Amino acid sequence: MKYTKSNLMRGYANKILTIDLANGAIQENGLDPKVRDYFVGGRALGLYLLYKRITPGMSPYAPENPLIFSPGPLAGVPQFPGTSKCMAVSLSPHTGIPGISNFGGHFGAHIKYAGFDIIEITGKSEEDIFILINGFENQVTIIDAPSIDRVFDLEKFIVDACTGKGYDKKDITFVTTGVGAANTTYGCINSHYFDPTKTAGGQKGFFRTKQAGRTGLGSVMIDKKIRSVIVLAEYPHGENPYGAADWEKAKRAGLKLSKVVREVDPVSLKMSRQGSAGLISFMNNENYMSLPVNNYQYGSDPRAEQISGKFYEENLFDHRGMDGCFPGCSLRCTKGGWVTLSFGDQKGKKVWVDGPEYETACGFGSNLGIWNAEAIMEANWHCDNLGIDTITTAVIIAFLMECFQRGYLSKEDTDGVELTWGDDQSVLRFLHQISHRENEFAREAGKGMVSLVEWVCRKYVQRTGRENPKKELMKFSMQAKGLPFSLYRTHRSLSMQASYAAASDIGAHHAAAWLIKVDLLGAFPTLQDKARALITYPRVRLGNDNLGLCKLPWVDVFNPESEKVKDTDKFINPASQE
Ligand code: SF4
Repeated sequence: MKYTKSNLMRGYANKILTIDLANGAIQENGLDPKVRDYFVGGRALGLYLLYKRITPGMSPYAPENPLIFSPGPLAGVPQFPGTSKCMAVSLSPHTGIPGISNFGGHFGAHIKYAGFDIIEITGKSEEDIFILINGFENQVTIIDAPSIDRVFDLEKFIVDACTGKGYDKKDITFVTTGVGAANTTYGCINSHYFDPTKTAGGQKGFFRTKQAGRTGLGSVMIDKKIRSVIVLAEYPHGENPYGAADWEKAKRAGLKLSKVVREVDPVSLKMSRQGSAGLISFMNNENYMSLPVNNYQYGSDPRAEQISGKFYEENLFDHRGMDGCFPGCSLRCTKGGWVTLSFGDQKGKKVWVDGPEYETACGFGSNLGIWNAEAIMEANWHCDNLGIDTITTAVIIAFLMECFQRGYLSKEDTDGVELTWGDDQSVLRFLHQISHRENEFAREAGKGMVSLVEWVCRKYVQRTGRENPKKELMKFSMQAKGLPFSLYRTHRSLSMQASYAAASDIGAHHAAAWLIKVDLLGAFPTLQDKARALITYPRVRLGNDNLGLCKLPWVDVFNPESEKVKDTDKFINPASQE
């Protein structure tokens, strides 16, 4: 389909790109101004389009279930820190309810630059395909794709194909998933972007990734046979390229927030050096007991230093270059480094790993009793390469380890596989088995926590003849609404427990209201304070998600100006409240 591209106005292209893979129809539809002004963009607009498409009882694998990519009106504005977050939205095959996953990189920005506010894809293709949105030629096409199951092989294929046609790497951005997404309900979507500032093999620049990890939207993507959505586009040029109402004011506001982030981060969470893994030491503090250890059984461990942000900062993260997942981010928390693979058919190869972020470091570290920082990075790389969510995979494995610990599983039940605390090689092997459905045990683990509990119960009753242990298993199968917990032990933070259970509409994820840190610091001393925070924070977060902003610089970096703000929550960055 050829289309006409118009300049962005107030951050909007005012166009929806709709693709039906059942018949190959591609359409550009106008974005109704009333819908735009009510839902703004990002999460809310994505959910609105999902709501319009789905019907009661629809299977997430129904062709009619759309896969939606929705950035917001501030996506792709490098004059602000933390822009270019994009939402992937669909009915989740993992939970059966609407799934939303927020991801960084350049993809959301490039959707805007190519001339669209949102992409919705319905139907299923018969064969593997790429969707190519070419913002240089103003053309959208569906093309045959090779069935490349591993994400980094696919990345190489796409980059070679696009550069072979003369496109500059900085103008190429795309999303992919891998074989694990096809064989589980918790496939992730990788967002690939070119980082010109890092060095590999003497060459400047290589492609890096961020993930839409939660709720299994990679599984929807591969079920539709979409191997990649590729966007070719360039930053808009000229004065006021996003059509801001007051461009000078917008630039001043961006500079102000950038300055706050640059000044505050080095003396607080140090995310620009340690990434979000810097939180590990805080959560591990014995006063807080909030680091999940051995499937959330314990909240602190002296070995946490071996996987802390400080350890990564000093030993494994490569600090050369910028580490912002989009230009203009002064927080630059997207850390990464090199590891040599110890497992798999590429054993011995040195690979670049984007991460680990806090969740992955705890998920494959403390919560599995693994205190080996390189093993965690390797697990991170394999999950990305196979296309599975690190959090969900790790928490499911933690549950299974506790089942072995408590005798609810034995090797007899699991085709000889045994998962024990601290055994990183078994973990690496098992995540490959899950991704390829290699045996019954792996196949059941790939379905998700809720059905896995039932399976363990059946196996236990068959083997022992004892009473069904479901009541006991429910105590340590850590999930809400079917989504495994992200990596906070919430015993000391009632507000965070409520955030998982109630504020988060997708299940037990931390993004809707990340209250644990300030709650542990005493910000919400009464139940009323906690309840109020559970109303205020999700609203602010929803605002960020709708605009296309990253919560880290916009909410979580403490802005000293908060002290001056009256009648509002001082822990929410005033920049988010303006
Ligand atoms: S704070 Fe981190 S995740 Fe957020 S936009 Fe900046 S680099 Fe990306």
